[in-house]
Amino acid sequence: MTPTTRRGFLALAGGSAVALSIKAESLNARQLPGQPPSENSGGREKDFSNVMAIAAHPGDAFFAMGAPVAVAAHLGGKGSLLSLSLGERGSPTIPAEHYGASQREAAQKAAALIGAQALFLPYPDGEIPINEEAKFAVCDLIRQYKPSIIVTHWKGSWHKDHRACSDIVEDAVFYAGLPAIVRKEPAHGVRKLFYADNWEDATGFTADTYLDITAVFDVWMNACSAFPMWRGETGFRYNDYYGSLAVTRGCLSNFNRAVALMSPTEQRVQHIRTP
Ligand SMILES: [Zn+2]
Repeated sequence: MTPTTRRGFLALAGGSAVALSIKAESLNARQLPGQPPSENSGGREKDFSNVMAIAAHPGDAFFAMGAPVAVAAHLGGKGSLLSLSLGERGSPTIPAEHYGASQREAAQKAAALIGAQALFLPYPDGEIPINEEAKFAVCDLIRQYKPSIIVTHWKGSWHKDHRACSDIVEDAVFYAGLPAIVRKEPAHGVRKLFYADNWEDATGFTADTYLDITAVFDVWMNACSAFPMWRGETGFRYNDYYGSLAVTRGCLSNFNRAVALMSPTEQRVQHIRTP
């Protein structure tokens, strides 16, 4: 077994992570003892003025991606949560038609509680297609809502809908930003894409960005409780998992509550100028 020092552990845990705080003045206090300096944001929180979560199912949008959207609303900006399907086949006991309607209702209620908007596309749960029609449908919503940041699924997932969503979003962001692709709305360049920390998408997920969600934690948790599945009705205790994950990620980033995000490889490239 490799001896683990406190410094080594924190370096491993923090890596070269970026810590994003809503309170810019508190950034200097966010260095953990013994941890090598990470790149702190001095003003990038302004990017969180318009955040769109794009998920395969409403539960993913709110539980794994909802807190950054709540941050946008808290900052006085705009937030939207797009579900590619209603997750209507997710209940072991309730018929899909009824469950889908209740999922839609819960998403609308939860979105209102965090001051955001719930959006839907009509793909069947379990059968979200990876095709140009779906990519352009998402592209059109990106152009319409103009998010500066998009949070979506990491492709390292056991769930085929989550992998499909990740693929669709990456291409939709590309299409949305190309002026030569003429759609109803003009081109819109998304500033950053992030992958969410989701228990179903854990293969190869490596956090590189921590977002302080302390100010929105209670509002976000309350919004999630609009979904019956939040409390474990479908077999997984989402409330316990995501509530304690925010505490755990907060410990690692020295925020009270935090979510961890992962950047696409190309977004991690840094340019360091020398004199
Ligand atoms: Zn899902």
